[in-house]
Amino acid sequence: MKNLEIAQIFERMSKLLEIQGEIVFKIRAYERAAENIANLTEDIAKLREEKRLSEVGGLGTALQEKIGEYLDTGKIHAYEELIQKIPESLLDVMNVPSVGPKKAKLFFDELKIKDIEGLRKSADQGKLLELPGIQAKTVENILKGIKVLQAGQERMNLGVAVDLSDQIIAQLKKLKSVKKISVAGSLRRMKETIRDIDILVVSLDPQKVMDAFVSLPQVKSVNVHGETKSSILTNENIQVDLRVIDEKIFGAALLYFTGSKNFNVKLRQIAIKEHKKVSEYGIFSVKGDSEKTLASKTEEDCFQALGFPYIPPELREDIGEKELFGDEGFAKIKKVPSLLELEDIKGEWHVHSTYSDGHDTICAMAESARQRGYQYLAISDHSPRLRVAGGVSVEDLKKKKKEIDELNGGYKDFRILFGTEVEIDSDGNLDYNDKILSEFDIVIAAIHSGFEQSRDKLTRRLVKACSHKSVNAIAHPTGVHLGKRDPYDIDFKEVCKAAVDHNTYLEINAFPHRLDLNSAHVYFARSQGVRFVINTDAHRAEHMGLMKFGVAVARRGWLTKKDVVNTLSLSEMLKQIKK
Ligand SMILES: [Zn+2]
Ligand SMILES: [Zn+2]
Repeated sequence: MKNLEIAQIFERMSKLLEIQGEIVFKIRAYERAAENIANLTEDIAKLREEKRLSEVGGLGTALQEKIGEYLDTGKIHAYEELIQKIPESLLDVMNVPSVGPKKAKLFFDELKIKDIEGLRKSADQGKLLELPGIQAKTVENILKGIKVLQAGQERMNLGVAVDLSDQIIAQLKKLKSVKKISVAGSLRRMKETIRDIDILVVSLDPQKVMDAFVSLPQVKSVNVHGETKSSILTNENIQVDLRVIDEKIFGAALLYFTGSKNFNVKLRQIAIKEHKKVSEYGIFSVKGDSEKTLASKTEEDCFQALGFPYIPPELREDIGEKELFGDEGFAKIKKVPSLLELEDIKGEWHVHSTYSDGHDTICAMAESARQRGYQYLAISDHSPRLRVAGGVSVEDLKKKKKEIDELNGGYKDFRILFGTEVEIDSDGNLDYNDKILSEFDIVIAAIHSGFEQSRDKLTRRLVKACSHKSVNAIAHPTGVHLGKRDPYDIDFKEVCKAAVDHNTYLEINAFPHRLDLNSAHVYFARSQGVRFVINTDAHRAEHMGLMKFGVAVARRGWLTKKDVVNTLSLSEMLKQIKK
Protein backbone atom coordinates (compact mmCIF):
# COMPACT_ATOMS: atom_id res chain seq x y z
CA MET A 1 0.00 0.00 0.00
CA LYS A 2 1.23 3.45 -0.88
CA ASN A 3 -1.04 5.13 1.69
CA LEU A 4 1.68 6.09 4.13
CA GLU A 5 4.07 7.31 1.45
CA ILE A 6 1.44 9.63 0.00
CA ALA A 7 0.35 10.82 3.43
CA GLN A 8 3.98 11.62 4.23
CA ILE A 9 4.45 13.67 1.07
CA PHE A 10 1.27 15.62 1.67
CA GLU A 11 2.30 16.29 5.24
CA ARG A 12 5.67 17.54 4.05
CA MET A 13 4.01 19.71 1.44
CA SER A 14 1.78 21.31 4.05
CA LYS A 15 4.81 22.14 6.14
CA LEU A 16 6.89 23.41 3.24
CA LEU A 17 4.00 25.63 2.25
CA GLU A 18 3.83 26.88 5.80
CA ILE A 19 7.52 27.78 5.73
CA GLN A 20 6.92 29.52 2.43
CA GLY A 21 4.20 31.58 4.08
CA GLU A 22 1.30 30.18 2.04
CA ILE A 23 -2.29 30.89 3.02
CA VAL A 24 -3.61 28.85 5.93
CA PHE A 25 -6.42 27.32 3.91
CA LYS A 26 -4.04 25.65 1.49
CA ILE A 27 -1.77 24.39 4.26
CA ARG A 28 -4.70 22.90 6.13
CA ALA A 29 -5.95 21.17 2.98
CA TYR A 30 -2.73 19.18 2.65
CA GLU A 31 -2.58 18.55 6.36
CA ARG A 32 -6.10 17.14 6.49
CA ALA A 33 -5.56 15.04 3.40
CA ALA A 34 -2.38 13.61 4.92
CA GLU A 35 -4.14 12.73 8.15
CA ASN A 36 -7.11 11.16 6.44
CA ILE A 37 -4.98 9.10 4.07
CA ALA A 38 -2.75 7.89 6.90
CA ASN A 39 -5.81 6.66 8.72
CA LEU A 40 -7.39 4.84 5.79
CA THR A 41 -7.99 1.17 6.28
CA GLU A 42 -8.29 0.51 2.56
CA ASP A 43 -5.60 0.62 -0.10
CA ILE A 44 -5.62 4.05 -1.71
CA ALA A 45 -4.79 2.55 -5.10
CA LYS A 46 -7.92 0.46 -4.86
CA LEU A 47 -10.02 3.47 -3.90
CA ARG A 48 -8.70 5.28 -6.91
CA GLU A 49 -9.40 2.37 -9.24
CA GLU A 50 -12.95 2.25 -7.99
CA LYS A 51 -13.22 6.04 -8.37
CA ARG A 52 -13.94 6.42 -4.66
CA LEU A 53 -11.21 8.89 -3.73
CA SER A 54 -13.77 11.59 -3.08
CA GLU A 55 -15.09 9.49 -0.19
CA VAL A 56 -11.87 10.27 1.67
CA GLY A 57 -12.41 13.49 3.59
CA GLY A 58 -10.69 16.61 2.29
CA LEU A 59 -9.64 15.32 -1.12
CA GLY A 60 -10.60 17.85 -3.80
CA THR A 61 -9.86 17.23 -7.47
CA ALA A 62 -6.40 18.81 -7.30
CA LEU A 63 -5.32 16.48 -4.50
CA GLN A 64 -6.92 13.47 -6.18
CA GLU A 65 -4.90 14.21 -9.31
CA LYS A 66 -1.69 14.36 -7.27
CA ILE A 67 -2.48 10.98 -5.76
CA GLY A 68 -3.01 9.57 -9.24
CA GLU A 69 0.24 11.10 -10.38
CA TYR A 70 2.12 9.47 -7.53
CA LEU A 71 0.53 6.07 -8.08
CA ASP A 72 1.39 6.21 -11.78
CA THR A 73 4.85 7.79 -11.72
CA GLY A 74 6.10 7.54 -8.14
CA LYS A 75 6.47 11.31 -8.04
CA ILE A 76 4.44 14.46 -7.46
CA HIS A 77 5.63 17.30 -9.64
CA ALA A 78 4.43 20.10 -7.32
CA TYR A 79 6.37 18.52 -4.47
CA GLU A 80 9.56 18.21 -6.52
CA GLU A 81 9.25 21.89 -7.37
CA LEU A 82 8.77 22.85 -3.75
CA ILE A 83 11.91 21.08 -2.58
CA GLN A 84 13.88 22.85 -5.28
CA LYS A 85 13.06 26.09 -3.53
CA ILE A 86 13.20 25.02 0.09
CA PRO A 87 15.57 22.27 1.22
CA GLU A 88 13.58 19.37 2.60
CA SER A 89 15.84 19.15 5.62
CA LEU A 90 14.37 22.47 6.74
CA LEU A 91 11.36 20.40 7.77
CA ASP A 92 13.46 18.77 10.46
CA VAL A 93 14.46 22.22 11.67
CA MET A 94 10.86 23.35 11.70
CA ASN A 95 9.80 20.26 13.63
CA VAL A 96 12.13 21.03 16.50
CA PRO A 97 9.84 21.99 19.37
CA SER A 98 9.82 25.78 19.83
CA VAL A 99 11.15 26.44 16.31
CA GLY A 100 8.16 26.21 13.95
CA PRO A 101 7.84 27.51 10.36
CA LYS A 102 8.50 31.20 10.96
CA LYS A 103 11.74 30.72 12.83
CA ALA A 104 12.86 27.99 10.44
CA LYS A 105 12.49 30.47 7.59
CA LEU A 106 14.24 33.20 9.54
CA PHE A 107 17.19 30.89 10.33
CA PHE A 108 17.39 29.78 6.71
CA ASP A 109 17.22 33.30 5.26
CA GLU A 110 19.59 34.91 7.75
CA LEU A 111 22.03 32.17 8.73
CA LYS A 112 21.62 29.61 5.92
CA ILE A 113 20.65 27.00 8.51
CA LYS A 114 19.16 24.12 6.59
CA ASP A 115 19.37 21.14 8.92
CA ILE A 116 19.42 20.20 12.58
CA GLU A 117 23.18 19.97 12.77
CA GLY A 118 23.44 23.53 11.46
CA LEU A 119 20.85 24.65 13.96
CA ARG A 120 22.70 23.08 16.85
CA LYS A 121 25.97 24.66 15.80
CA SER A 122 24.48 28.12 15.43
CA ALA A 123 22.74 27.75 18.79
CA ASP A 124 25.96 26.67 20.49
CA GLN A 125 27.97 29.45 18.90
CA GLY A 126 25.48 32.09 20.01
CA LYS A 127 24.62 33.07 16.44
CA LEU A 128 20.89 32.65 16.95
CA LEU A 129 21.00 35.31 19.64
CA GLU A 130 21.95 37.90 17.06
CA LEU A 131 18.60 37.48 15.30
CA PRO A 132 15.58 39.65 16.08
CA GLY A 133 13.24 38.22 18.71
CA ILE A 134 15.53 35.37 19.78
CA GLN A 135 16.37 35.32 23.47
CA ALA A 136 18.61 33.14 25.59
CA LYS A 137 15.55 31.22 26.81
CA THR A 138 14.51 30.50 23.20
CA VAL A 139 17.94 29.08 22.40
CA GLU A 140 17.82 26.92 25.51
CA ASN A 141 14.40 25.59 24.48
CA ILE A 142 15.62 24.91 20.96
CA LEU A 143 18.56 22.85 22.22
CA LYS A 144 16.20 20.92 24.47
CA GLY A 145 13.84 20.45 21.55
CA ILE A 146 16.56 18.95 19.37
CA LYS A 147 17.08 16.26 21.99
CA VAL A 148 13.36 15.44 22.24
CA LEU A 149 13.07 15.21 18.49
CA GLN A 150 16.06 12.98 18.02
CA ALA A 151 14.97 10.65 20.80
CA GLY A 152 11.53 10.42 19.15
CA GLN A 153 12.87 9.63 15.70
CA GLU A 154 14.53 6.49 16.92
CA ARG A 155 11.20 5.10 18.00
CA MET A 156 7.84 4.59 16.34
CA ASN A 157 4.50 4.87 18.05
CA LEU A 158 2.69 1.74 19.13
CA GLY A 159 -0.01 2.14 16.48
CA VAL A 160 2.50 2.04 13.63
CA ALA A 161 4.27 -0.96 15.15
CA VAL A 162 1.07 -2.94 15.67
CA ASP A 163 -0.13 -2.24 12.11
CA LEU A 164 3.16 -3.33 10.61
CA SER A 165 3.54 -6.46 12.71
CA ASP A 166 -0.08 -7.43 12.04
CA GLN A 167 0.56 -7.18 8.32
CA ILE A 168 3.74 -9.23 8.47
CA ILE A 169 2.25 -11.88 10.72
CA ALA A 170 -0.80 -12.22 8.48
CA GLN A 171 1.47 -12.83 5.50
CA LEU A 172 3.66 -15.37 7.29
CA LYS A 173 0.65 -17.20 8.68
CA LYS A 174 -0.30 -18.10 5.14
CA LEU A 175 2.69 -20.44 4.99
CA LYS A 176 1.62 -23.98 5.80
CA SER A 177 4.84 -24.73 7.66
CA VAL A 178 4.23 -21.97 10.26
CA LYS A 179 2.81 -23.68 13.34
CA LYS A 180 2.98 -20.84 15.83
CA ILE A 181 3.78 -17.17 15.56
CA SER A 182 3.95 -14.36 18.09
CA VAL A 183 5.43 -10.92 18.51
CA ALA A 184 7.87 -10.54 21.38
CA GLY A 185 9.85 -7.60 22.77
CA SER A 186 8.49 -4.20 23.73
CA LEU A 187 5.71 -4.58 21.21
CA ARG A 188 4.30 -7.56 23.08
CA ARG A 189 4.55 -5.49 26.26
CA MET A 190 2.64 -2.79 24.35
CA LYS A 191 5.10 -0.08 25.21
CA GLU A 192 4.02 3.43 24.13
CA THR A 193 6.89 3.70 21.65
CA ILE A 194 8.80 0.90 19.98
CA ARG A 195 12.33 0.77 18.60
CA ASP A 196 12.14 -2.44 16.54
CA ILE A 197 9.87 -5.41 16.06
CA ASP A 198 10.65 -8.99 17.16
CA ILE A 199 8.71 -11.95 15.87
CA LEU A 200 9.06 -15.61 16.92
CA VAL A 201 7.92 -18.54 14.81
CA VAL A 202 7.64 -22.28 15.22
CA SER A 203 8.09 -24.00 11.88
CA LEU A 204 9.07 -27.37 10.48
CA ASP A 205 10.66 -25.68 7.50
CA PRO A 206 12.70 -22.72 8.84
CA GLN A 207 14.45 -22.02 5.54
CA LYS A 208 11.16 -21.53 3.74
CA VAL A 209 9.91 -19.12 6.41
CA MET A 210 13.13 -17.11 6.26
CA ASP A 211 13.01 -16.92 2.46
CA ALA A 212 9.41 -15.74 2.57
CA PHE A 213 10.21 -13.19 5.27
CA VAL A 214 13.09 -11.50 3.44
CA SER A 215 11.02 -11.23 0.28
CA LEU A 216 7.95 -9.60 1.82
CA PRO A 217 6.74 -6.50 -0.07
CA GLN A 218 7.51 -4.35 3.00
CA VAL A 219 11.23 -5.13 2.82
CA LYS A 220 13.61 -2.37 1.75
CA SER A 221 16.86 -4.12 2.66
CA VAL A 222 17.97 -7.37 4.28
CA ASN A 223 20.49 -7.12 7.11
CA VAL A 224 20.66 -10.81 7.97
CA HIS A 225 19.27 -13.80 6.09
CA GLY A 226 20.11 -16.78 8.23
CA GLU A 227 18.72 -20.23 8.88
CA THR A 228 17.02 -19.43 12.16
CA LYS A 229 17.31 -15.68 12.34
CA SER A 230 16.72 -12.95 9.80
CA SER A 231 16.57 -9.22 10.09
CA ILE A 232 15.12 -6.74 7.63
CA LEU A 233 14.58 -3.02 7.26
CA THR A 234 11.14 -1.99 6.01
CA ASN A 235 10.35 0.81 3.58
CA GLU A 236 9.72 3.05 6.60
CA ASN A 237 13.18 2.14 7.99
CA ILE A 238 11.82 -0.05 10.73
CA GLN A 239 13.90 -3.05 11.75
CA VAL A 240 12.05 -6.34 12.04
CA ASP A 241 13.75 -9.48 13.38
CA LEU A 242 12.37 -12.97 12.88
CA ARG A 243 13.53 -16.04 14.78
CA VAL A 244 12.53 -19.63 14.25
CA ILE A 245 12.23 -21.46 17.56
CA ASP A 246 11.95 -25.14 18.36
CA GLU A 247 8.43 -25.83 19.58
CA LYS A 248 9.72 -27.61 22.69
CA ILE A 249 11.27 -24.38 23.99
CA PHE A 250 8.84 -21.82 22.56
CA GLY A 251 7.59 -20.68 25.99
CA ALA A 252 11.09 -20.09 27.35
CA ALA A 253 12.12 -18.23 24.21
CA LEU A 254 8.96 -16.12 24.25
CA LEU A 255 9.57 -15.22 27.89
CA TYR A 256 13.18 -14.37 27.16
CA PHE A 257 12.60 -12.31 24.02
CA THR A 258 9.59 -10.47 25.47
CA GLY A 259 11.69 -8.91 28.23
CA SER A 260 11.93 -6.36 29.58
CA LYS A 261 15.62 -6.78 30.17
CA ASN A 262 15.30 -5.75 33.79
CA PHE A 263 12.42 -8.12 34.32
CA ASN A 264 14.52 -10.99 32.98
CA VAL A 265 17.40 -10.02 35.23
CA LYS A 266 15.06 -10.13 38.23
CA LEU A 267 13.77 -13.57 37.31
CA ARG A 268 17.32 -14.84 36.90
CA GLN A 269 18.41 -13.47 40.27
CA ILE A 270 15.46 -15.06 42.03
CA ALA A 271 16.11 -18.35 40.23
CA ILE A 272 19.77 -18.42 41.29
CA LYS A 273 18.74 -18.17 44.95
CA GLU A 274 16.69 -21.32 44.49
CA HIS A 275 19.42 -23.17 42.56
CA LYS A 276 17.56 -22.71 39.31
CA LYS A 277 18.58 -21.25 35.99
CA VAL A 278 16.61 -19.22 33.47
CA SER A 279 17.64 -18.99 29.85
CA GLU A 280 16.04 -18.69 26.42
CA TYR A 281 16.03 -22.49 26.32
CA GLY A 282 14.15 -23.19 29.53
CA ILE A 283 13.98 -23.13 33.30
CA PHE A 284 16.42 -25.59 34.84
CA SER A 285 17.21 -26.92 38.29
CA VAL A 286 20.93 -26.93 38.95
CA LYS A 287 22.74 -29.41 41.19
CA GLY A 288 26.51 -29.34 40.98
CA ASP A 289 27.33 -29.89 37.33
CA SER A 290 24.00 -31.39 36.35
CA GLU A 291 20.99 -29.53 35.04
CA LYS A 292 17.43 -30.72 34.74
CA THR A 293 14.80 -29.04 32.61
CA LEU A 294 11.82 -27.94 34.71
CA ALA A 295 9.85 -26.14 32.00
CA SER A 296 10.24 -24.72 28.51
CA LYS A 297 7.22 -25.35 26.32
CA THR A 298 4.84 -22.61 27.44
CA GLU A 299 5.32 -19.37 29.33
CA GLU A 300 2.78 -20.51 31.91
CA ASP A 301 4.91 -23.58 32.64
CA CYS A 302 8.02 -21.44 32.95
CA PHE A 303 6.45 -19.02 35.42
CA GLN A 304 5.09 -21.93 37.42
CA ALA A 305 8.51 -23.57 37.60
CA LEU A 306 9.79 -20.34 39.13
CA GLY A 307 6.92 -20.16 41.61
CA PHE A 308 5.09 -17.27 39.98
CA PRO A 309 1.56 -16.92 38.67
CA TYR A 310 1.36 -16.00 34.98
CA ILE A 311 2.50 -12.40 34.60
CA PRO A 312 0.97 -10.67 31.58
CA PRO A 313 3.57 -9.07 29.26
CA GLU A 314 2.28 -5.57 30.04
CA LEU A 315 3.39 -5.97 33.66
CA ARG A 316 6.92 -7.11 32.87
CA GLU A 317 8.27 -3.61 33.36
CA ASP A 318 10.09 -1.52 35.91
CA ILE A 319 6.87 0.42 36.55
CA GLY A 320 5.36 -2.08 38.98
CA GLU A 321 8.58 -3.77 40.02
CA LYS A 322 7.93 -3.36 43.73
CA GLU A 323 4.50 -4.90 43.46
CA LEU A 324 5.96 -7.86 41.60
CA PHE A 325 9.12 -8.46 43.58
CA GLY A 326 8.64 -6.64 46.90
CA ASP A 327 10.83 -3.92 48.43
CA GLU A 328 13.89 -6.12 48.66
CA GLY A 329 13.46 -7.28 45.10
CA PHE A 330 13.37 -11.00 45.80
CA ALA A 331 9.81 -11.59 46.91
CA LYS A 332 7.30 -13.22 44.59
CA ILE A 333 3.90 -11.83 43.81
CA LYS A 334 1.23 -14.34 44.82
CA LYS A 335 -1.63 -13.14 42.67
CA VAL A 336 -1.69 -10.88 39.63
CA PRO A 337 -4.69 -8.52 39.46
CA SER A 338 -7.08 -9.36 36.65
CA LEU A 339 -6.28 -6.52 34.34
CA LEU A 340 -8.77 -4.54 32.30
CA GLU A 341 -9.80 -6.16 28.99
CA LEU A 342 -10.95 -4.45 25.81
CA GLU A 343 -14.30 -6.24 26.14
CA ASP A 344 -14.93 -4.44 29.45
CA ILE A 345 -15.36 -1.08 27.71
CA LYS A 346 -19.01 -0.04 27.43
CA GLY A 347 -18.75 3.36 25.78
CA GLU A 348 -16.63 6.46 25.59
CA TRP A 349 -16.70 10.15 26.38
CA HIS A 350 -14.45 11.76 23.83
CA VAL A 351 -15.11 11.65 20.12
CA HIS A 352 -15.63 14.44 17.61
CA SER A 353 -18.26 14.94 14.95
CA THR A 354 -18.73 17.25 11.98
CA TYR A 355 -19.87 19.89 14.50
CA SER A 356 -16.17 20.54 15.12
CA ASP A 357 -13.20 18.96 13.34
CA GLY A 358 -14.53 15.41 13.08
CA HIS A 359 -14.98 13.72 9.72
CA ASP A 360 -18.24 11.88 10.45
CA THR A 361 -21.73 12.89 11.50
CA ILE A 362 -23.10 12.27 14.98
CA CYS A 363 -25.30 9.55 13.51
CA ALA A 364 -22.37 7.77 11.85
CA MET A 365 -20.29 7.93 15.02
CA ALA A 366 -23.16 6.57 17.10
CA GLU A 367 -23.82 3.73 14.68
CA SER A 368 -20.17 2.73 14.78
CA ALA A 369 -20.23 2.78 18.59
CA ARG A 370 -23.33 0.62 18.62
CA GLN A 371 -21.70 -1.89 16.32
CA ARG A 372 -18.83 -2.10 18.77
CA GLY A 373 -21.35 -3.17 21.38
CA TYR A 374 -21.22 0.11 23.31
CA GLN A 375 -24.15 1.36 25.38
CA TYR A 376 -23.35 5.04 24.96
CA LEU A 377 -21.16 7.54 23.21
CA ALA A 378 -20.54 11.14 24.23
CA ILE A 379 -19.98 13.42 21.25
CA SER A 380 -17.53 15.90 22.72
CA ASP A 381 -16.72 18.54 20.15
CA HIS A 382 -14.35 21.43 20.69
CA SER A 383 -15.47 24.77 22.12
CA PRO A 384 -15.28 28.09 20.19
CA ARG A 385 -11.87 29.22 21.43
CA LEU A 386 -10.23 26.40 19.48
CA ARG A 387 -10.92 28.07 16.16
CA VAL A 388 -8.57 25.90 14.11
CA ALA A 389 -10.68 22.89 15.05
CA GLY A 390 -14.02 24.58 14.34
CA GLY A 391 -15.16 24.89 17.96
CA VAL A 392 -18.95 24.79 18.35
CA SER A 393 -20.66 28.16 18.89
CA VAL A 394 -23.35 28.54 21.53
CA GLU A 395 -25.88 28.89 18.72
CA ASP A 396 -24.82 25.59 17.13
CA LEU A 397 -24.92 23.81 20.48
CA LYS A 398 -28.72 24.09 20.42
CA LYS A 399 -28.81 22.53 16.99
CA LYS A 400 -26.48 19.79 18.12
CA LYS A 401 -28.53 19.05 21.22
CA LYS A 402 -31.69 18.85 19.14
CA GLU A 403 -30.07 16.47 16.67
CA ILE A 404 -28.89 14.24 19.51
CA ASP A 405 -32.34 14.21 21.14
CA GLU A 406 -33.94 13.23 17.85
CA LEU A 407 -31.47 10.43 17.22
CA ASN A 408 -31.90 9.16 20.78
CA GLY A 409 -35.64 8.96 20.14
CA GLY A 410 -34.88 6.12 17.76
CA TYR A 411 -32.71 4.08 20.14
CA LYS A 412 -33.81 1.59 22.76
CA ASP A 413 -30.55 0.14 23.99
CA PHE A 414 -28.13 2.95 23.23
CA ARG A 415 -27.73 6.60 24.09
CA ILE A 416 -25.82 9.46 22.56
CA LEU A 417 -24.58 11.79 25.26
CA PHE A 418 -24.33 15.53 24.72
CA GLY A 419 -20.68 16.28 25.41
CA THR A 420 -17.97 18.86 24.93
CA GLU A 421 -14.20 19.06 24.98
CA VAL A 422 -14.07 22.52 26.46
CA GLU A 423 -10.96 24.69 26.33
CA ILE A 424 -9.20 25.59 29.55
CA ASP A 425 -7.94 29.14 29.00
CA SER A 426 -4.61 30.49 30.20
CA ASP A 427 -6.11 31.27 33.63
CA GLY A 428 -7.92 28.00 34.11
CA ASN A 429 -11.34 29.33 33.12
CA LEU A 430 -13.57 27.39 30.78
CA ASP A 431 -14.71 28.43 27.35
CA TYR A 432 -18.51 28.12 27.96
CA ASN A 433 -20.31 29.76 30.87
CA ASP A 434 -21.48 27.71 33.86
CA LYS A 435 -25.08 27.59 32.74
CA ILE A 436 -24.20 26.15 29.36
CA LEU A 437 -21.74 23.71 30.90
CA SER A 438 -24.42 22.42 33.26
CA GLU A 439 -26.53 21.39 30.28
CA PHE A 440 -24.03 18.85 28.93
CA ASP A 441 -24.19 15.18 29.91
CA ILE A 442 -20.39 14.97 29.79
CA VAL A 443 -17.82 17.74 30.03
CA ILE A 444 -14.17 17.02 29.40
CA ALA A 445 -11.79 19.92 29.78
CA ALA A 446 -8.53 20.25 27.90
CA ILE A 447 -5.50 22.43 27.36
CA HIS A 448 -4.56 23.04 23.72
CA SER A 449 -2.47 26.20 24.09
CA GLY A 450 -0.17 28.02 26.47
CA PHE A 451 2.02 24.95 26.97
CA GLU A 452 5.06 27.11 27.72
CA GLN A 453 3.58 28.61 30.89
CA SER A 454 5.30 28.00 34.21
CA ARG A 455 4.80 24.72 36.07
CA ASP A 456 2.87 26.53 38.72
CA LYS A 457 0.51 28.22 36.31
CA LEU A 458 -0.13 25.11 34.23
CA THR A 459 -0.83 23.09 37.37
CA ARG A 460 -3.26 25.72 38.62
CA ARG A 461 -5.11 25.69 35.31
CA LEU A 462 -5.68 21.94 35.57
CA VAL A 463 -6.52 22.02 39.26
CA LYS A 464 -9.08 24.75 38.67
CA ALA A 465 -10.64 22.80 35.82
CA CYS A 466 -10.81 19.67 37.99
CA SER A 467 -12.65 21.55 40.68
CA HIS A 468 -15.31 22.94 38.34
CA LYS A 469 -18.69 21.46 39.22
CA SER A 470 -19.51 20.46 35.65
CA VAL A 471 -16.18 19.00 34.57
CA ASN A 472 -16.15 15.20 34.47
CA ALA A 473 -12.71 14.57 33.04
CA ILE A 474 -9.46 16.13 31.97
CA ALA A 475 -8.58 15.13 28.41
CA HIS A 476 -4.99 14.19 27.50
CA PRO A 477 -3.78 15.56 30.85
CA THR A 478 -0.08 16.08 30.07
CA GLY A 479 -0.29 17.34 26.48
CA VAL A 480 2.41 14.99 25.18
CA HIS A 481 2.66 14.36 21.45
CA LEU A 482 4.91 11.33 21.06
CA GLY A 483 8.15 12.13 19.28
CA LYS A 484 7.03 15.71 18.69
CA ARG A 485 6.25 17.44 21.92
CA ASP A 486 7.24 16.69 25.48
CA PRO A 487 4.55 16.79 28.14
CA TYR A 488 4.04 20.24 29.58
CA ASP A 489 5.50 20.84 32.98
CA ILE A 490 2.96 20.20 35.75
CA ASP A 491 2.88 19.02 39.33
CA PHE A 492 1.13 15.80 38.49
CA LYS A 493 0.57 14.85 42.11
CA GLU A 494 -1.35 18.07 42.67
CA VAL A 495 -3.51 17.37 39.64
CA CYS A 496 -4.20 13.84 40.91
CA LYS A 497 -5.24 15.22 44.26
CA ALA A 498 -7.65 17.71 42.68
CA ALA A 499 -9.08 14.95 40.49
CA VAL A 500 -9.73 12.71 43.49
CA ASP A 501 -11.12 15.54 45.64
CA HIS A 502 -13.63 16.63 43.00
CA ASN A 503 -14.62 13.31 41.45
CA THR A 504 -12.99 14.28 38.17
CA TYR A 505 -11.64 11.49 35.99
CA LEU A 506 -8.30 11.59 34.24
CA GLU A 507 -8.33 10.50 30.64
CA ILE A 508 -6.15 7.87 29.06
CA ASN A 509 -6.20 9.15 25.51
CA ALA A 510 -5.90 6.07 23.28
CA PHE A 511 -4.80 7.86 20.13
CA PRO A 512 -1.37 6.37 19.35
CA HIS A 513 0.25 9.79 18.87
CA ARG A 514 -0.82 10.72 22.35
CA LEU A 515 -1.20 7.79 24.76
CA ASP A 516 -1.66 10.43 27.41
CA LEU A 517 -1.66 9.61 30.31
CA ASN A 518 1.15 7.12 29.72
CA SER A 519 1.50 3.92 31.73
CA ALA A 520 3.88 5.37 34.31
CA HIS A 521 1.47 8.24 34.97
CA VAL A 522 -1.41 5.81 35.23
CA TYR A 523 0.42 3.64 37.71
CA PHE A 524 1.24 6.63 39.88
CA ALA A 525 -2.24 8.17 39.63
CA ARG A 526 -3.81 4.85 40.60
CA SER A 527 -1.72 4.89 43.78
CA GLN A 528 -3.20 8.32 44.53
CA GLY A 529 -6.77 7.04 44.22
CA VAL A 530 -7.46 8.57 40.80
CA ARG A 531 -10.14 7.02 38.61
CA PHE A 532 -9.87 6.95 34.85
CA VAL A 533 -11.76 7.16 31.62
CA ILE A 534 -10.30 5.73 28.40
CA ASN A 535 -11.19 7.59 25.21
CA THR A 536 -10.04 7.40 21.62
CA ASP A 537 -10.51 11.08 20.75
CA ALA A 538 -11.82 9.68 17.45
CA HIS A 539 -12.10 12.19 14.62
CA ARG A 540 -13.70 9.56 12.40
CA ALA A 541 -15.73 6.47 13.14
CA GLU A 542 -12.97 3.97 12.51
CA HIS A 543 -10.69 5.68 15.03
CA MET A 544 -12.85 4.20 17.76
CA GLY A 545 -10.97 0.98 16.98
CA LEU A 546 -7.92 2.59 18.61
CA MET A 547 -9.43 1.83 22.02
CA LYS A 548 -7.11 -1.21 22.29
CA PHE A 549 -4.12 1.09 22.68
CA GLY A 550 -5.73 2.94 25.59
CA VAL A 551 -6.56 -0.39 27.19
CA ALA A 552 -2.93 -1.44 26.75
CA VAL A 553 -1.74 1.68 28.60
CA ALA A 554 -4.26 0.98 31.35
CA ARG A 555 -3.04 -2.61 31.66
CA ARG A 556 0.57 -1.46 31.80
CA GLY A 557 -0.52 0.87 34.61
CA TRP A 558 -2.05 -2.12 36.48
CA LEU A 559 -5.66 -0.99 36.07
CA THR A 560 -8.56 -3.35 36.58
CA LYS A 561 -12.12 -2.92 35.44
CA LYS A 562 -13.14 -1.08 38.57
CA ASP A 563 -10.57 1.69 38.04
CA VAL A 564 -12.12 2.73 34.74
CA VAL A 565 -15.46 4.52 34.61
CA ASN A 566 -16.38 3.60 31.06
CA THR A 567 -16.57 -0.06 31.97
CA LEU A 568 -19.80 0.71 33.83
CA SER A 569 -23.26 0.41 32.36
CA LEU A 570 -24.79 3.71 31.25
CA SER A 571 -27.04 4.13 34.28
CA GLU A 572 -24.34 3.17 36.80
CA MET A 573 -21.83 5.43 35.06
CA LEU A 574 -24.18 8.43 35.18
CA LYS A 575 -24.81 7.79 38.86
CA GLN A 576 -21.12 7.61 39.74
CA ILE A 577 -20.00 10.72 37.92
CA LYS A 578 -22.35 13.01 39.85
CA LYS A 579 -20.34 15.63 41.67
ZN1 LIG B 1 -7.95 17.64 22.59
ZN1 LIG C 1 -10.45 15.76 21.19
